[in-house]
Parts: sequence; structure tokens; C-alpha cells
Amino acid sequence: MVVRVAAPAAPQATNGAAANSIEQKYDHIRASSGAADAMRGNALAGGKNAASSAAQSATLGTMMARKYVGAGRRNDSCIATTTTDGVPPVWNAVKHITAPRGTFDILPPESAQWQALERIIDEVCTRFGYQEIRTPIFESTEVFVKPIGEGTDIVDKEMYTFIDRGERSITLRPELTAPVVRAVLEHNLLQSLPLKLYYRGPIFRYERPQKGRYRQAHQWGVECFGVAGPEADAEIIALGLEVMRAIGITEYRLEINSLGCEQCRKKFRDALVEFLRSSAQRLSETSQERLTRNPLRILDSKDPRDVDVLTQAPTMDGYLCEACQEHFAVLRTLLESMGIRALHNPHIVRGLDYYTRTVFEISSTGLGAQNSVCGGGRYDGLVRSMGGPQTPGVGLAMGMDRMLMLAHSAGMTQTHNGRPRVDVVFVALDEPSAYTLVPVMNAVRARHISADMDYTRRNIDKQLRAAGESGARYAVIVGEDERRSSEATIQNLATRERSRIALDNVESELANRLKT
Ligand code: ATP
Ligand code: MG
Repeated sequence: MVVRVAAPAAPQATNGAAANSIEQKYDHIRASSGAADAMRGNALAGGKNAASSAAQSATLGTMMARKYVGAGRRNDSCIATTTTDGVPPVWNAVKHITAPRGTFDILPPESAQWQALERIIDEVCTRFGYQEIRTPIFESTEVFVKPIGEGTDIVDKEMYTFIDRGERSITLRPELTAPVVRAVLEHNLLQSLPLKLYYRGPIFRYERPQKGRYRQAHQWGVECFGVAGPEADAEIIALGLEVMRAIGITEYRLEINSLGCEQCRKKFRDALVEFLRSSAQRLSETSQERLTRNPLRILDSKDPRDVDVLTQAPTMDGYLCEACQEHFAVLRTLLESMGIRALHNPHIVRGLDYYTRTVFEISSTGLGAQNSVCGGGRYDGLVRSMGGPQTPGVGLAMGMDRMLMLAHSAGMTQTHNGRPRVDVVFVALDEPSAYTLVPVMNAVRARHISADMDYTRRNIDKQLRAAGESGARYAVIVGEDERRSSEATIQNLATRERSRIALDNVESELANRLKT
């Protein structure tokens, strides 16, 4: 049911008289703000008459606005303004505050693509039987240090850590697996296994910002607790690829490896240390230092000197125990059975300490230097290392920022789910018509039809052109003529066909037409 406001009478000058109609009220407001402007102008001009000072104030405002726009995106632009008759500047300096280095705002229409990606993640994870978990943006620093590992880039160089007012060491989360395990243990969620969780949200790493590498980035990911068998590893890889497929990314490379279990990794570690010691002089300074502290970290180095030495280094596959070999072989068969092509790359080790057995990376050729989209693997020792019971786990994390960069180059559309911004635009030709349309539009929106009205009342041609360009399907137009007969004109924006219908029927007519 549409309840309509009676169309108000034509506007009249009020000059302080009681405001009876809606327009009168607005006129009154307009008049008083004009007076305020006049007073401000008066002060600036040092006591000239109010009318000419108001005009001057308007000129000044325009000048400032123009200068401001001209200053563009410069960071610390100073804007000095003088009036034509030498009145001193009012704004000597306006600082543009910008987003911190390595962070960015997500603006429309691009925000619609983020929404589309978020919906796809929700839908696919739910389809695979995973439930969402949301953890705080910050955690106690200890949540990350031990699980991720000292000597890793994240812990040594990239964490945003600070002491809060209560003297606690706090860290903005650089990843979500450790927080998820912290939450799972805190709330006793491991009592009923398997436990399948997914998350999405911002992460923070103090990195050197560049294309695809930010200080606030966004990740989504899944974690499966309680399944030791390779079916879980295979499911998680399939899930990651399904999200990529759903957003239109078809070009990628999936590389997998096995890091073995605690026992076989020890033998490998010894062999690696022996090899690296013999070439220690050729390694980077960081890697030389890691040789005693955490030699496996060296495998993850991107320093060309280390990469060169590592080409000759022993690889894990020669040291896997029988159980680890079988786990890896079955995983590869399962992936193959789902039509997933995975390359075995014995050099994939991943940058986090907690991985055991399976590790994998998904990368793309379309991202330049930052080509890794996804990292994941099995972490059978993590829950216990964080104080919980021995519980196997496997998960992945995908960078949402990089996914969207790839989706753009794969031709992702501007609007989410292929929908226009709104289906219906309401066009009022004058102020009373706008008031008439407000409740009609509200009722239409309540019917789950997306609708909008340009309250600035631009000229009708401009409004209809903008509506057509935004992909809207219908315009509902009301002017004085329609108002007199309590009707509206409905225009199909594709065919330009117009018809008149009773205002009371707008809601049901739109619902019917939009069904098709
Ligand atoms: P890289 O080798 O690019 O530094 P990583 O190994 O540090 O990646 P992970 O910790 O495995 O990355 O995180 C998983 C995914 O999150 C990455 O594949 C990437 O897509 C994304 N990611 C990680 N750090 C950033 C960042 N600083 N900016 C944008 N995306 C990031
Ligand atoms: Mg990194």
C-alpha cells in the first residue's frame, strides 16, 4: 500500500512568516542560510553592506573550491587565496590527508566487484560444507610469533606490533590461520570433528608497497581440522580453484610439494645444512644467519644469490618416509581424478613454519612480480604447538586483491552478479512531484526492487541518459501533468516505450514487468 503525501501548494516567499507548507519551510531555511552567508561575508569585508559581502563570500567560496580541485591529489598542497579587493586569505593552508602508505580505499563502482568476490567466496565455501568464522583484526602478539616462526619474513620484518595503553603487546593480524586456531581452542570447537571453517578479511604486513603488494591486503581462506587423510587436502585445493573459476580466472599454475612429517624432515634438514655450509660464502647475509637459526627458511628466500645456490641443493622428495610418500601419491591421484592438473615442484616450501606434508601454491602469469595468488598446506603440528590436542589440519589462504587484479584482466564486469546499480529510476520534474514520489519509491524498494531518485532534480534528459547508461530498466516519471491525474509515466529505457498508469499501481506494475 502506498501512502501518499498530499502535493504541497506552490512555493511563496516567507520572509520570516510561519512556514505552513513543505516548500515554505524549505524557503525559510534557505533564507536563513543566505543571511548567515551574508553575515560571514560582512565580517570578511570589514563591515561593507551585507548584500555585496554575501556576493563576495560566494565568489571567494568558488575560488577556494576551484583552487582545491586544481590542487588535485597532491599530498601537502597549500592553498592560499586572496579576494579581488585585497581581503586577507581565510584558508592559508589546507592539508590533504591521504590513506597510509600501502593502503587503499575501495570506491564505487569497484566496491561492487569486491562484493561480488565476497559473495562468491561465501557461496562456494558453503557449497563445500565450510562455515564462516570471524576473528578480531588484532591479537596478542604471541598468537603469531611461535606458530608462524621466528626467522620468517612475517615475524621478523612484517608485523604491525605495538604496545597498547594497557601495556600489552598487540599485533594486527598478518594472516588468519593462527587466529583461527586460537579461537577454535578458546571456544572448544575441536570437540566435534571434523571442523570446517572459512574466513575473509583484511591482513596487515609491513612490506614495501608495490603493485599487488600492500600493507593492508585482504585474504580469504579455509581451514579443515581433524582429517589426516589426503581427501581434505584435495578438497581444499578443489575449493580454491572453484572460487577462481567462479570469478573468471582460468589461467593459473598449481604447484604442490610435500615437506614430510617431523621425522623425515629432520633427516632432510641435516642434509640441507651440510650442503649449505659448503656454499655458505655464496649465500645472502640473512641466509648465512639463518643457517644456524632456521635453515629450512633459506629454501623460501627470493634473494638471487640464495636461489642460485639452492638449484643444486638436496630436495625433500628424496627424504620422505613411506607414510608421507603415500599421502602425497594419493593426493596427486585424487587431484587427477577431479581433472585438476598439479605440478610437483620440490622447491615449494612456503614461508610459514607450521606446514607438514602437503604444501601448495597457485600462481598466475598475469601479475608480474607478485604472481602468487594462493598458498596453503597441511599443518598437523600447529594445534598442539598452540596448546591444544594433537589435531591434523589443512588450509589455504588466497589474496583477494590479487584475485581481483586477475579477474579484471579476465574481463570481470563492472556490476556485481551482472546486475545494474538499480533497476528503476524515479524522475520528478518539480519539487511537489518529488515529494509525491518519495513514498511510492519507498514502497517499491520494500518489494525488493532496487530503485533510486536524483534528488538534485537535474534536467530530465540528463537523468534519463544517466539511468540508461547505468543499466536501469525502467524510469517512473512524474511532473505537474501526471500529478494532476494521480498518475505516473513509466518508460522502458531499452525500447523508450512510454505508458501512463495510476500512481497506486506503480508498485505492482514494476513488480510484474521486472519478473521477465
Ligand atoms: P608473497 O610471496 O607474494 O609475499 P606470501 O607467501 O607472503 O606471498 P601468503 O602468506 O601465503 O603469501 O599469503 C597468501 C596470499 O595472500 C598470497 O598468495 C597473496 O596472494 C596474498 N598476499 C600476501 N601478502 C600480501 C600483500 N602484502 N599484499 C597483497 N596480497 C598479499
Ligand atoms: Mg610475503
